[in-house]
Amino acid sequence: MNKSDTSNTNKLIDRFGRQVTYVRLSVTDRCDFRCQYCMSENMQFLPRQKLLTLEELASVGKTFASLGVNKIRITGGEPLVRKNIIWLFEQLGQMEQIKDLTLTTNGSQLHKYAENLKSAGVTRINISIDSLKDNRFKDITRTGNLNQVLKGIDSAIAAGFNKIKLNTVIMKNHNHDEIIDLVDFAIERNIDISFIEEMPLGIIDSHARDKTFYSSDKVRHDIETKYSLTSSNKNTAGPSKYYAINNSDSSVGFISPHSHNFCESCNRVRVTAEGRLLLCLGQEHSVDLRDIIRRHPGDFEKLRSSLIAAMDLKPESHEFNVNIEPVILRHMNMTGG
Ligand code: SAM
Ligand code: SF4
Repeated sequence: MNKSDTSNTNKLIDRFGRQVTYVRLSVTDRCDFRCQYCMSENMQFLPRQKLLTLEELASVGKTFASLGVNKIRITGGEPLVRKNIIWLFEQLGQMEQIKDLTLTTNGSQLHKYAENLKSAGVTRINISIDSLKDNRFKDITRTGNLNQVLKGIDSAIAAGFNKIKLNTVIMKNHNHDEIIDLVDFAIERNIDISFIEEMPLGIIDSHARDKTFYSSDKVRHDIETKYSLTSSNKNTAGPSKYYAINNSDSSVGFISPHSHNFCESCNRVRVTAEGRLLLCLGQEHSVDLRDIIRRHPGDFEKLRSSLIAAMDLKPESHEFNVNIEPVILRHMNMTGG
């Protein structure tokens, strides 16, 4: 595809011919947890007027859908702590173009909302869990309660989503000894699990990231001491590589953002809680959608043309390095996972 294809006004195509079909929308920077790798202990959150309103979020979703986006993931912060968030899921769930409406959550509120989310049209849920030990869970999340999350996982399973996946960030000497236990836990429940390499996003105060880094290759090696894995050719156009776990219905994924080889097939963009369209997780190229929406209220065409124009800013690839100070000062709760 060449540059002239960007004139196609029904699709989001960047300078490298990649079509954006997947948007991650962060609906809040707030969270009831303070996970060590994600936030510092005393986080300053955005004043409410800086967040996109639920109506603004719905119109962003609708505009993306009109431009060929068929998958929206709602993330945060913790999406389920935002007041009236189910309304947004209902709005997005009604859009015919959106085939996949997904949520990433820490699970703390899932016992209350799993049924509502299913009825609103959520297809898949990712639930983060880094430890199955009470004290350790508390230590990593600082404020989280393991039992509440386990209850949330049970409620999600009972509600019958198409897919449930656990997300685990592995940190050396914090939870790397629980890899097999977490895989066992997923297999027992017929759900999937992904292990995420820690990313150097934002300055944190609990640990030096180069000391806790535990590579996906090591995690896979640990799992293979108990299970045999068969590489799956599922292409997520993302930094994930999936394997079937033999003799089970579960699969295991490895999310290795330090590897560059997925950039060429990148199909995604992100919108931060304050409405900044980020063209790449590891770079700062962005467009202030909140400003556009608030300067041109109700002007769907203006937002649409701004999204099309933004595609020219999408960089070819990202840069991450755990051994140097973060160049990206955004915390993950601003960006969404
Ligand atoms: N609060 C929700 C949750 O925890 O699932 C959604 C937002 S959270 C930012 C999304 C995902 O990002 C979680 O799976 C979390 O473990 C992961 N995450 C947060 N900070 C990270 C970091 N520095 N490196 C890698 N993953 C991170
Ligand atoms: Fe909250 Fe999710 Fe960040 Fe943990 S990873 S502090 S649950 S936003």
